Amino acid sequence: MRSIQGTTKLLGVIGAPVEHSLSPAMHNAALAHLGLDYVYVPFPVRPVDLERAIAGFEAVGVVGFSITIPHKQAILPLLSQVWPAAQLVGAANTVWYNDGGWSGTNTDVEGFIAPLKALQRDWSQVVPVVLGNGGAARAVVVGCAELGCPEVCVVGRDRDRLDKFKQSWRDTPLHGLVSVRSWDELSGLVSATDLLVNTTPVGMFPHVSQSPVEESVLEGLKADAIAYDLIYTPRPTLFLKLAQQRGAMIIDGTEMLVQQGAAALQIWLQQPVPVDVMRQALLEKLAA
Ligand code: NAP
Repeated sequence: MRSIQGTTKLLGVIGAPVEHSLSPAMHNAALAHLGLDYVYVPFPVRPVDLERAIAGFEAVGVVGFSITIPHKQAILPLLSQVWPAAQLVGAANTVWYNDGGWSGTNTDVEGFIAPLKALQRDWSQVVPVVLGNGGAARAVVVGCAELGCPEVCVVGRDRDRLDKFKQSWRDTPLHGLVSVRSWDELSGLVSATDLLVNTTPVGMFPHVSQSPVEESVLEGLKADAIAYDLIYTPRPTLFLKLAQQRGAMIIDGTEMLVQQGAAALQIWLQQPVPVDVMRQALLEKLAA
């Protein structure tokens, strides 16, 4: 542990609960590697205290912070600048102090697309199928748009929530990109897509024997498709195991977690950050 002194600058994560956050391990490992006089601290903040908490952060000179459940949307009206990624997603996960106010963005978008970009494929003909229509699905939609996909097909189980999801893009540049489908259409969608993304929590520890897509439906997956699960415990999920059995390339949620953190740290420090160190710290924490 580095020594904390009078000059130490503060970074952190706010959430409720925040005790099990993996971010302190990742960020403090990177800060130690860089030899910087910073510390990254988890701050439990109840919804009722959000405004007071960030006023206090300003008062004590916090440089920036991550935001997790349940504050990702609620933080937006408290920011003086909301970057386009956060505007489109409708949520911020990274905030920094700038020009007398707080600015916010959403690095989940960058985190999600990082392992896909690394494949150096042409995405202009790929219509991803996204399972789930919650907060993470929004970052995935924005990420797919950034990759250059011509359409994103979002599959949900509740018609009203799906329609609201579709409506929510109405006044954005992504309006024509998003189509919504119900769960009973999944079979045909799975067999046609080159990129199948799970953004539901189905299959997450401890429910490791569950998959959002039945085995019989996953049997229709193209052998050269990519199956991407945002879940990072277990690694891999049953969904990914079944997709791999079909021959598909699989991507789990760890790289997204690492890359969204690296993108945030780069904003706060304004310098390149050691992504390998962050990944290693995360993998060690997950294995512990
Ligand atoms: P969320 O806002 O609660 O959304 C979850 C979505 O999953 C909702 O659309 C929900 O459907 C759907 N869903 C839940 N149970 C389902 C079931 N049994 N069958 C079908 N659909 C179901 O949660 P979130 O914030 O988007 O997070 C979702 C997952 O992504 C979590 O596992 C989270 O850990 C992961 N995640 C990972 C990263 C990363 O960096 N790797 C980042 C963000 C999130 P309804 O709307 O019908 O309820």
